[in-house]
Amino acid sequence: MIAVVGAGPVGLTAAVVLARAGVPVTVLERGPALGTASRASTFHPATLDLLAGLGVAEEFIARGRKVHDLQWRSRTGELLTRMSYAAIADRTAHPFRLHAEQTELTPLLLEHVPDIRWNTEVVDVRQDTDGVELITSGGTIRAEYVIAADGAHSTVRTKLGLGFPGVEYPTCALRVITTTELDRLLPGLSPMTYFRDPAGSCSVLGLPDHWRVILRLPHQTGVSVEALLHKALPTLADRIEVRDAHTYRTSRRVIDNYKVGRVLFAGDAAHLTSTAGGMNMNCGIHDAVDLATALIRGSALLDEAARRRRNVVTDHVIPRSEARVSGVDGQAGSVEAAVRQLAATASDPAEAAQYLVQASMLDSVPKMIQHSLEGSAAS
Ligand SMILES: Cc1cc2nc3c(=O)[nH]c(=O)nc-3n(C[C@H](O)[C@H](O)[C@H](O)COP(=O)(O)OP(=O)(O)OC[C@H]3O[C@@H](n4cnc5c(N)ncnc54)[C@H](O)[C@@H]3O)c2cc1C
Repeated sequence: MIAVVGAGPVGLTAAVVLARAGVPVTVLERGPALGTASRASTFHPATLDLLAGLGVAEEFIARGRKVHDLQWRSRTGELLTRMSYAAIADRTAHPFRLHAEQTELTPLLLEHVPDIRWNTEVVDVRQDTDGVELITSGGTIRAEYVIAADGAHSTVRTKLGLGFPGVEYPTCALRVITTTELDRLLPGLSPMTYFRDPAGSCSVLGLPDHWRVILRLPHQTGVSVEALLHKALPTLADRIEVRDAHTYRTSRRVIDNYKVGRVLFAGDAAHLTSTAGGMNMNCGIHDAVDLATALIRGSALLDEAARRRRNVVTDHVIPRSEARVSGVDGQAGSVEAAVRQLAATASDPAEAAQYLVQASMLDSVPKMIQHSLEGSAAS
């Protein structure tokens, strides 16, 4: 039996991949039910392709808002440049990004999970050469392998004595929620628009029933949300009704090894990145597919899969996420240079396609077994 710790989007994805292949799997979740906090809202084409392979994409896409192009605008709304996902229609079955709450996905995944134990908190971990013992609030469970998808503060990671090296970013993100339809205020506005201006930058995301404005700021600015909105979106701010606003800190951290004995790490338990580019959960879902697929195919593939997943984070996700906000902190000349570079990329069809392939994580997406396998649990 494989035990998955954590019923977030990552743990549930791993469990569904294993269950579809006929591998016995049990999910242990400390909460009484699925989490309901509003967190990730971006699902990239590569992730939608994987979710389609798990049979949940169609219903999920119906719950979200499709984004067909990315736009960059000045803070007064002038269109600076844009890229259309049509450029990568030959690379994905889903040439759009989807904006939907991650809490819309988890119930759909849960329907395909055969065994989940709620109110079961893993409090300690021991392992030997044949298996792993999880000491939980509901007793001890023995598994052949464990996938630790228990989030950023992973108990499994801590109890195995593993570090989580990295740094906190010097800026935090302010997320403003509004039900004002920003595309009515600014016709033609894409639900994924980056406002880039030396005087103030932000990103806006349209979801099915609200919009989000994301600003990056130094910790503790002491400036009001309204004043910050005015600076970033001077022509729109007066007409934006703020429903909610909060800040969150972001870090860059990666575990040294995704595989420690018979324990595999996935999702936030293994890596944290800035939320810019919306890649961290997407990468976690890819971790889950890659590691679960390696478990199905045979334990000899696990070390390679573990190395591959870490390299995806260090070589793709972190640098791209950081590049996405390069210049938005107001360094002189950096915003203009970044926008000039983007406009040059957008004007060249091959370069635009390459940019979108990378932003969509299509160049690092793992291969998934598309059909059920019989009796192939790892040993
Ligand atoms: C405001 C915000 C916006 C974000 N936006 C994006 C975005 O647009 N795109 C993107 O890709 N990412 C985004 N992220 C990141 C994304 O939310 C996370 O990467 C994602 O939730 C990670 O999923 P996970 O399953 O690894 O962990 P989690 O979602 O944290 O789930 C971990 C689960 O493990 C359970 N658990 C924890 N400890 C134990 C234990 N000891 N025993 C049993 N169960 C346990 C928890 O209860 C929880 O259910 C955002 C994050 C935040 C905070």
